[in-house]
Amino acid sequence: MSELECVAYGVGHADEGVCLLLRLGPYRVLLDCGLTDLSSLLADPSPPADLVLCSHAHADHAQGLLALHQAFPALPIYASDATTQLLPLNWAETSSSHAAFCQALPWRTPVEFFDGLSAALYPAGHLPGAAAILLSYTPPSGGPPQRPYSVFYTGDFFLSNSRLVEGLPLEELRGLSPDVLIVDGSYGTSRHPHRRQQENQLAERIQRSLAQKTSILLPTAPLGLAQELLMLLRSHHHFTGRDFTIWVDESIAAACDAYLNILSHLPTSVQNFARHQPLFWDERVRPRVRRLRSGQSHILSSPCIVLAEETVDLEQYTHSDPDAWMILKPQEPHRVVHEQVPYPHSSATETYLLAQHGDGPGTTQLIHNLRPQHVVFVHGSPTYLSDLTGLDELHNRYHLHSPAPGSTVELPIGETFVQPAAPEVSYEGELTEFNEIVTITLPNAIAADPRWQALADTGLIEARWQGDELVLRGLPQRELLRPGGDRLLDWMDANSPLRNCCGNCRHYRGQRCWNMSSPLFEFKVTPDGFCPVFEPNQPE
Ligand SMILES: [Zn+2]
Ligand SMILES: [Zn+2]
Repeated sequence: MSELECVAYGVGHADEGVCLLLRLGPYRVLLDCGLTDLSSLLADPSPPADLVLCSHAHADHAQGLLALHQAFPALPIYASDATTQLLPLNWAETSSSHAAFCQALPWRTPVEFFDGLSAALYPAGHLPGAAAILLSYTPPSGGPPQRPYSVFYTGDFFLSNSRLVEGLPLEELRGLSPDVLIVDGSYGTSRHPHRRQQENQLAERIQRSLAQKTSILLPTAPLGLAQELLMLLRSHHHFTGRDFTIWVDESIAAACDAYLNILSHLPTSVQNFARHQPLFWDERVRPRVRRLRSGQSHILSSPCIVLAEETVDLEQYTHSDPDAWMILKPQEPHRVVHEQVPYPHSSATETYLLAQHGDGPGTTQLIHNLRPQHVVFVHGSPTYLSDLTGLDELHNRYHLHSPAPGSTVELPIGETFVQPAAPEVSYEGELTEFNEIVTITLPNAIAADPRWQALADTGLIEARWQGDELVLRGLPQRELLRPGGDRLLDWMDANSPLRNCCGNCRHYRGQRCWNMSSPLFEFKVTPDGFCPVFEPNQPE
């Protein structure tokens, strides 16, 4: 038996949930328990693991935990603090108390559970409280010589910031080099537009329908996407101040209430917002958000927006006037919803993208930043996952696995694994438009690159269209002076660069240019800089 292996009880290919048993040396760690059928875990009278770690509170990762706990009450179960508070939503209908069978772990702090075995949690984006888990095992000294090893499990991850959760902090994890990376591959190799663009597209679609007096029905998972939709509808400029009502069904309302209990775990911007007005329930502000009790759909007045739990019969909302409704359902390729309960075909149905998981470029970016030996893809349809394992840029560099449910993956760890260099990574930035000013925010990794110095030299960039793409490049000082083309270069050659340089200019003080008519005005410049409006220090 290998020192390190993974038994895949559930890999999230469809709706079977995620549940992975890792064997690290003498220990067995269960990562998530999203199974509906626990028979494989309960086959033995003894617990299937020494320890359970839950990545986040979504049903496909957590719904089996209560049954597992009831079968083996002494089996320790851990998650992040926010996750422990959101977990009970999975068992809302059972009356038994779930008094904290899941214990909270802090962020970013390795906790040693057994001799040599420790785990640390990192925020994974995706959902408040969602954690990526770093497991490390150091074999005891004195035994046969073995090296320590580590496994990084992303759970469900998302690199971008959403409205109610910050993205996975890739910067902190760069170069971690775990031996094994177990990664969420939900969207395969597909490429998504920026988050802001996804939001705008959805907001525009909804606005168009409302303008035509069509009501919108949004079937959604009750936890995560539903609250993102509410925040979007409450704060997007298409909707603020508009006189309509957003109705929220009971299971989504319960998840909203749970968010209010974990307010201190939400991004600072959201906490600030919540200081001025209630996060969800506010009668003073338009559009209003109200709870819709079951059986109350007759009180809906058109046009309105209804957020409904995705597995309920949607016809209860649309049946009285199907033509007055537009159903907008999320594009989630890996999920099989509504097999039992059909969609009402009489109403128009469209899909939208408001991703909660990394797209293809996000996934490969994460992998190249972490630099593991093995990559185990889970969570996603098998075709999407095989798109990922088929990528040259991945299988040339890493050992790739995409286990079938019920299989065991052996993960042999090489002593000297030499990796070829990772390809150039492209990083995502954010655009903020305010009147005529556009601010571009770039991740620290770009500024940490030695090439940044050269780009930031003048603080000026050249922007030009290349087809539909906007190309940005830094302008070095010499190039700054080329607006007139080569004529200016000739001018510079003809004039001694040492004489007509910034160091000899009367506007050069404190290493900065103070000539308002110069392109360098207020910028830090080096004494050997040039500028077309050079003025000598002393009149010649
Ligand atoms: Zn999830
Ligand atoms: Zn999931």
